[in-house]
Amino acid sequence: MLTLTTELLSLRTRHPFIIARGGQSDYRTVMVRIQDADGNEGWGEAAATRFYGETLETVQAALPTYAAQLGDDPGQLEAIEARLLAALGGNAAARVAISAALHDLVAKRAGMPLCRWWGLDPAAAPQSTFTIGLDTPDRLRMKVAEAEEYPILKVKLGGADDLMVLRTIREATDKELRVDANCAWSAAQAVAMLPVLAEFGVTLLEQPVAPRDHEGLGRVRAAATIPVIADESCVTARDIPPLVGKVDGINIKLAKCGSLREALRMIAIARAHHLQVMVGCMIESSLGITAAAHLTPLVDVVDLDGAALLAQDPFVGATIHGGQVRLPDGPGLGVVRR
Ligand code: MG
Repeated sequence: MLTLTTELLSLRTRHPFIIARGGQSDYRTVMVRIQDADGNEGWGEAAATRFYGETLETVQAALPTYAAQLGDDPGQLEAIEARLLAALGGNAAARVAISAALHDLVAKRAGMPLCRWWGLDPAAAPQSTFTIGLDTPDRLRMKVAEAEEYPILKVKLGGADDLMVLRTIREATDKELRVDANCAWSAAQAVAMLPVLAEFGVTLLEQPVAPRDHEGLGRVRAAATIPVIADESCVTARDIPPLVGKVDGINIKLAKCGSLREALRMIAIARAHHLQVMVGCMIESSLGITAAAHLTPLVDVVDLDGAALLAQDPFVGATIHGGQVRLPDGPGLGVVRR
């Protein structure tokens, strides 16, 4: 039998992390451990986000239901994940913690890092961005200085004074800038912002409009000269076909899609539609980040700074040095406790 145990993780970001719909400094996630009869253990992390309908409490309420579906063979990844979804839909962050723990366990039993178990080359991972949340000019300048080792910055917009944010950051650095509006703009506002983004040398625009405003995404994309990427509009694989022609790419997050196998399906479906693929994250420790990092050899754009934004990280796993994602060498996810 596979047994599941959990542990509450309290995380604190170095600075309050503010995006268009608010923010905070304190985050709580759940570590999931799955053990087999021989004492092998796989780990995963559930980073619940209220925007996607989950809280710490819903994760804790859902996990016992999922634990009852595990069975005794962790290698049955597809069947187990199907049983989880059939037992209780939604709850993607809770499900992906289990998915990551099972993948960790199976790859550990095979003695291979997960990405190599998938047949991927860890050296193929692109550079990761580092995110600058909404803030005052002084604090924006401080954050740009703190992000010195990262060659690409992701700028959160959609606040009260986007022009100030762009001007402050651009005056402080000549690095590549990408922008995420987190659904804050109307299509007309987004189109009006395009020349401003161009003026400041922005190279990518993430989720300018509301999640269901596909027509708006299409209007922005038609007017844009930079890639427009769907994040909040694209939660699971079935969201991809309706976005074809409306965006240039999709942002996959494990806490949205609920499973590592679903993330792989999303990559394949996006590629079939000639879409770019980005992998992002929530505020989570290196445990959750590393599960996503094992996908990075398959994607074009990486935004896995969730653990880098923390004051203290309970785990050591994938790292970002000079922007370059480096996967651990150990078997499974390769994550260890600090
Ligand atoms: Mg985003």
